[in-house]
Amino acid sequence: METAVGTAPTVLVVEDEPGIADILRITLSYNGFTVHCAATRREALAAVRQHRPDLVLLDVMLPDGNGWEVCRALRAEHAAEPGTDDLAIIFVTARDAPRDVVAGLALGGDDYITKPFGVDEVVARVHAVLRRTRRDTGVADRVLRHGDLEMDEATYSVRRAGQPVELTPTEYNLLRHLLRHAGRIISKEQLLQHVWQYETVVPSTVVETYISYLRRKLDRFGPPLIETRRGVGYGLRAVEQA
Ligand code: CA
Repeated sequence: METAVGTAPTVLVVEDEPGIADILRITLSYNGFTVHCAATRREALAAVRQHRPDLVLLDVMLPDGNGWEVCRALRAEHAAEPGTDDLAIIFVTARDAPRDVVAGLALGGDDYITKPFGVDEVVARVHAVLRRTRRDTGVADRVLRHGDLEMDEATYSVRRAGQPVELTPTEYNLLRHLLRHAGRIISKEQLLQHVWQYETVVPSTVVETYISYLRRKLDRFGPPLIETRRGVGYGLRAVEQA
C-alpha cells in the first residue's frame, strides 16, 4: 500500500522534566509535527543522528550537561557534513539573563524561548524559525522602528538614538509587543496574556515592574517613551515629527 509521505517537519524535544516534555510533545504533534524526545545531552546527540530532525527544542539545563554544549557539538558535527547545516535550534531557558541569550545565539542557536512559556508561543516560534531555516535566504531581516527606537528581530538587538540597549528576554518580549502595537494602548491583561502567557501565577505587579525596568533602560537615551494610561494600560508615545 502506498502511503502519501507528508513533509511534516521533525522536531526533537530535548527536555529532562517529563511534564514539560509531554506538553511540548503533545502540542507539537497536535500541530502536525513529527516529534521525538530526549532527556539528556547524550540522548539528544544520539537522537539527532538517528532522526535527523529539522529543528531541536533544546533545554539549557540538562542532567548530564547543558544545551550550549549540545548546540556546539551539533554545529561542529553539521559543519563537517555539508548540506546538513540547516538544522534549526531553539533554546528553552529558564535563565532570564541577556548574557545567556547572547551566548546561546552566538553558539548557533536560531531563537530562544524563556520558561515559563505558553504553548502557542512555542508553536509560533517553531514555525517562524523553520520558515527562516528551511527556505529563507534573501528574506529581509525584520526591523521594528518607532521614532529613534529600533528593534532588530534577527539579532535581538535594540537601539535607541543609535545606542545599544541591553534587555533581558522578558523585557525584550514586552517591548516587542508594545512595538508591534505602537500607537495603541495595551491593557495589563493583554500583556500578561501575550508576554507572560499566563503560564504560572505571576504577581499582578509584574507588568508594572517590567515597564519600569524598560523605562529605566530606554529613557537614558531620550524622552520618556512608554505611556501609562491609568486604569487602561500601556503604549508607546506618539513620535514627534522631525
Ligand atoms: Ca532542564
